Amino acid sequence: MRRPHRPALNAVARSPEDTAPRAILVIRLSAIGDVVMASAVLPVLRRAYPDARIDWLAEPPADAVLAAREELGEVIRWPKAEWRGLLRRGRLWALLRAFLGLARGLRRNRYDLVLDLQGLAKSGLWARLTGAPERVGLGSREGSRWLMTRVVARDGNEERIASEYRNLVRELGLEPGAFPLAPAVSGTAREEAARALAEAGIKGPFAVLAPFTTRPQKHWLEERWADLAARIRDGMGLPVVLVGGPGDRAAAARIAARTEGEVADLAGRTGLAGSLAVLREAALCVGVDTGLTHAAIGFGTPTVALFGSTRPYLDPATPSARVLYSGLPCAPCGRRPTCGGAFHCMAAIPVDDVLAEARAVRASTGDTA
Ligand code: SF4
Repeated sequence: MRRPHRPALNAVARSPEDTAPRAILVIRLSAIGDVVMASAVLPVLRRAYPDARIDWLAEPPADAVLAAREELGEVIRWPKAEWRGLLRRGRLWALLRAFLGLARGLRRNRYDLVLDLQGLAKSGLWARLTGAPERVGLGSREGSRWLMTRVVARDGNEERIASEYRNLVRELGLEPGAFPLAPAVSGTAREEAARALAEAGIKGPFAVLAPFTTRPQKHWLEERWADLAARIRDGMGLPVVLVGGPGDRAAAARIAARTEGEVADLAGRTGLAGSLAVLREAALCVGVDTGLTHAAIGFGTPTVALFGSTRPYLDPATPSARVLYSGLPCAPCGRRPTCGGAFHCMAAIPVDDVLAEARAVRASTGDTA
């Protein structure tokens, strides 16, 4: 039988019989959207190295994005928030024990390849602590390049979704293929979502709105969300669900109140995994630049993404997703808005345009409304 082709990594010359890594650790600790983007490397690694153990090191809650990925042997959690709690309470021995336990566990796994997709000091340190002979960093900064055996620049077609990760796998000599995002949800999360939807009275196809992020310059106007929800419900025949975290409950309640209770408000009522499962089941998602929106695209849910101060991509690389981006001269400003809180970039997106794109993405999957 012919052995599958297993490309050698470019970094180190080894004999042809010894080119395939046997154990790989991917490090992308946070944030949720970035973990969703980075998840696209998993199918590529599995295709290239069908027999390798592949693990991922992540912090909660971002680990929820990966928990059910079939390519993964283990999602190793770094409970950073718990460690901070130990530090605050002065429990230094407990903290040291936890640190040594995680570091020793990583080293015991004898990774021969680590991909540091975060490229920061903290991710680089974990990469170094594994003792892996090959440590490839993506755009390594904060001194972490000195902890790597190779650094690949953050490069690629910046308009295409996940292009820097696509470029990385190419630099490793691997074939990215279509390179779809690869978030996953567990059966438990699907059950949580089903319960929440049933309690909210949602039956059959439904639309999800994902309006919330931690940065106000990425938000659309609350009255437009309410208007959009009403028009999706009345014009497309889809009941509408709001998703978000516990910190979004007040804003979600305001939007729901504007629709006179016609929107099912699940913000803070499911965990992250449950929200992801809701998005996976949805017939439509409209969201801002947040991990939930990127995950919806990864699930193949028809999705419209609203970007203004940030522009993580313009090309979602799938007909089931579209990006609306106003492209003002001041955009993208990232974390440094210069508009004094006016956020014209998001205000420039009309409800009519969002609805038109929503119909288009639904039509791309054969649904019409
Ligand atoms: S500075 Fe421009 S791009 Fe940034 S938030 Fe304001 S309007 Fe949007």
